Amino acid sequence: MVDMKKILKNKKTKTLLLIAGIIMAGSFLYAAYDYGYVYHIKLNGKETEYLNINTEFKDPGVSVRYRGKKFKDYKTESNLDNKKNGTYEVKYIVGKKEIHRKVIVKDTEAPVIKLKDGEKIDYGYGKDFVDPGFEATDNVDGDVTDKVKVEGTVDSKIGEYVLTYKVSDSENNEAVVKRTVNVKDIEGPVLTFKRGINTYAIKGKKIDLNDYTATDNFDGDVTDKVKMEGNVDFDKVGLYKLEYTVEDSNGNKSVVERTVNVQKKNTKGIPVLMYHWFYDDTKGEKAGAVNSHNYISKTNLVKQAKFLKESNYYFPTWEELIDYINNKIDLPEKSVIVTDDDCVASFFNVALPVFQEYQIPVTSFCITKKNTWQSYVDAEYLDLESHTENLHVRKCSGTKWDGAVMCTSYDNIYKDIKTSVEKVKNTYAFAYPFGHYSDDTIKALKANKIKLAFTINSGRVRKGANKYKLPRVRINNGTSIEKYKSLLK
Ligand SMILES: [Zn+2]
Repeated sequence: MVDMKKILKNKKTKTLLLIAGIIMAGSFLYAAYDYGYVYHIKLNGKETEYLNINTEFKDPGVSVRYRGKKFKDYKTESNLDNKKNGTYEVKYIVGKKEIHRKVIVKDTEAPVIKLKDGEKIDYGYGKDFVDPGFEATDNVDGDVTDKVKVEGTVDSKIGEYVLTYKVSDSENNEAVVKRTVNVKDIEGPVLTFKRGINTYAIKGKKIDLNDYTATDNFDGDVTDKVKMEGNVDFDKVGLYKLEYTVEDSNGNKSVVERTVNVQKKNTKGIPVLMYHWFYDDTKGEKAGAVNSHNYISKTNLVKQAKFLKESNYYFPTWEELIDYINNKIDLPEKSVIVTDDDCVASFFNVALPVFQEYQIPVTSFCITKKNTWQSYVDAEYLDLESHTENLHVRKCSGTKWDGAVMCTSYDNIYKDIKTSVEKVKNTYAFAYPFGHYSDDTIKALKANKIKLAFTINSGRVRKGANKYKLPRVRINNGTSIEKYKSLLK
């Protein structure tokens, strides 16, 4: 048996045991320390982070040191939902140790206001201010344009005005944008001519070329500041170009180019051309099968328009034609008026662009109950007149398919035409459907203040003609350019 007392009494042995004990305790503590507490974890970034809703959380992570060295392996656990406002937790775990971070998801983004035309605009003096418009969108609420409040006013007087546009989203994030409106005179004077911009003169008879007035929105009457350049030889047939210039006191200039068509006087009457329908043969379209003679190809129309333009034809206004019929004026030898019946889609799609390109005024007679024409009321070189509201039907049975006016009461004809002219807002001219008319029809036109009415009878409009039985010159599908020229000679 080992005598323990003896051993413990031995001094050397005591010291050894003590050392062994210290080593054992140290190892134990070190092992425990190593197991859980040797990792030093520290949050990067803040303990509480704010995250804008619907955006990705860029986790700054943690820094871990193990036995004094950087240690990269740690786990992250989180209940974060970036699509919902709320407070969330992110856990960083390494070994048995973990630390936490709070993430608060909030809508922190204000709406964005976009100003149409920008933050600085010039605005015409003397006009009521109309905002060019704006749009506001929010990252959460979507379109918030209706919630934008505009502070400030813009006077029509010259000066600089500031408008403030404000809008808040449902989390009270506010956006503020300012717009500076510089009200100044940006408009040149308006020149008007008694005889119109493009006019005519009969050879040997001078006309007044200073028949203008000029009015400016800022300066008022500036007629005496107008300068004319160019020259007209009234004794020589030709197309003369003039240029009128006028500048207001703020340096806004207006320039008007004018043509004066000098010709011998017309003695043979004025041809009023009658077109109907069109087709674009350059796109492979064909004439319609029914009444195919009424269809004009684009190729032929271009030839005709080119001929009129290159031969310096003059296109009298309806007022000039009325004065001509009333023997108040003469018109140029080469005068022509272009009309089209029915206002069909092919007129607007195929023919109108050709007439506009060659600067030829054209009148189309519309069956106003149809809606082909409504989007063209402001088209250039176009005049829209009535072809009845709803009487463009051959309904009078037993009387050889006569047009509806032949068997409709005066009251109904009157009402139909009234509706029609109220729609087209023009009463210069009228075309009888199928050329049919009765005494009641003429009476109804006069009662509606229509000044001229066209049949489909062949001929030219002469001085002294009956203004409600005017003839026309029909242009057909088969009308060659040679035939066309001879019709106008
Ligand atoms: Zn018709």
